[in-house]
Amino acid sequence: MLYKEPAPIKDRENPFESMMSRFNIAAEILGLDEEVYNVLKTPTRQVIVNVPVTMDDGKVRVFEGYRVIHSTILGPSKGGVRFAPDVFLDEVKALAAWMTWKCAVVDIPYGGAKGGVICDPFSMSAGEMERLTRAYTQALVDTFGPDQDIPAPDMGTGPREMAWLMDEYSRMKGSTIHAVVTGKPLVLGGSLGRVEATGRGVMVSAMAAMDKLGMDPAKSTAVIQGFGNVGAWAAKLMAERGVKILGVSDVSGAYWNDKGIDIEEAIEYKNNNKGRLEGYQNAEKISNDELLVSKVDVLVPAAVEDVITIKNVDQIQARLIVEGANGPTSYKADNIINEKGIMVVPDILANSGGVTVSYFEWVQNRMGFKWTLDRVNERAERIMNESFERVYAASQKYNVPMRIAAYIVAIDKVAMTYKYRGGF
Ligand code: NAD
Repeated sequence: MLYKEPAPIKDRENPFESMMSRFNIAAEILGLDEEVYNVLKTPTRQVIVNVPVTMDDGKVRVFEGYRVIHSTILGPSKGGVRFAPDVFLDEVKALAAWMTWKCAVVDIPYGGAKGGVICDPFSMSAGEMERLTRAYTQALVDTFGPDQDIPAPDMGTGPREMAWLMDEYSRMKGSTIHAVVTGKPLVLGGSLGRVEATGRGVMVSAMAAMDKLGMDPAKSTAVIQGFGNVGAWAAKLMAERGVKILGVSDVSGAYWNDKGIDIEEAIEYKNNNKGRLEGYQNAEKISNDELLVSKVDVLVPAAVEDVITIKNVDQIQARLIVEGANGPTSYKADNIINEKGIMVVPDILANSGGVTVSYFEWVQNRMGFKWTLDRVNERAERIMNESFERVYAASQKYNVPMRIAAYIVAIDKVAMTYKYRGGF
């Protein structure tokens, strides 16, 4: 049988199989033919590198790294590089495929990729991080390229690492090549609006979904899990649209205020407190688990994978879930969410504002020109709204939840492009 249900792995779902389960449902609804299915189900290329790095104590450590290119059917592959102690190949494969679907959903001319290095960025000095980033770039110099494969930041990496990556790649090629990577610092060819782009896209998706559900933002409440780049920006911009944010959380726990959290103040507190909400006073401290199941209209998971699972999905009270994080809902929780009638704006749509503005950064680098913040925001908002409408229309047409609809839109586009380009 073509569309086989994957076997569950231990108690945590295998991210690649979780992605494939949704892919399979959408493929079956679309009647995807076997040839295209076989092309899309496996990554085009998986590179494993082992890079020696001299540590500050003079000893050499060898780090294992990955770059998975899932697809280049729509264009050069695009995707972040994750530095984390527990990153593994199946996770990178899933994230690479998600990038393919994400770029297709928002209709930008990129394929999907992802990178990872097993390391603990929080215990490494700046010098060690720089040597590791440069060594990883050297090992992948033939894989990366502005017309080939364009990395970006992900967990554990940021503008600093992207600057080193761009510099190392440029040195090896003998000229400055800004467009090889996105998410760079502003002075080095970064785009205005990139930092807040994902959170802004989450807000735009939330507003579009609330509109469909007949919810008035000014009379609605929300909680945001994760108060990093995505969560804090989403909270701030949603609050500006009138949504009362009753709770926010980070690794230190969750913070709740019946009258609404003052988001500007919470961000200022976090910025002065090493990026953490720990010790935040103007709220009651609750657990992260309580936050997820609290009585609010909108739940925005914007932290890590697998937080809405069969263990807590029964207790979720929100009417709308907007997935800022990648993969926050486990595959097994999907059915219960659907039975409860909760609308989910899935990750590959809701957090695609980030890759959209990364695409703008690449376009600006290639033009040798800088757009204004207004231009970036206006174009990104239009793309997010159009993408939302495309996915919503597919959900109506096929009578499926938004998540499956997003996969249908994405797979259909990639499959059609593949047909035009032709196989071997
Ligand atoms: P970040 O590192 O800036 O912030 C992560 C936040 O989550 C921090 O506040 C951290 O304390 C919190 N957190 C971590 N574990 C938690 C837990 N178990 N419970 C509650 N909070 C926890 O990361 P980010 O860039 O905001 O990314 C968040 C998510 O969004 C990730 O899944 C990422 O892949 C996804 N994403 C990010 C972007 C982007 O442009 N930054 C784009 C698309 C998707």
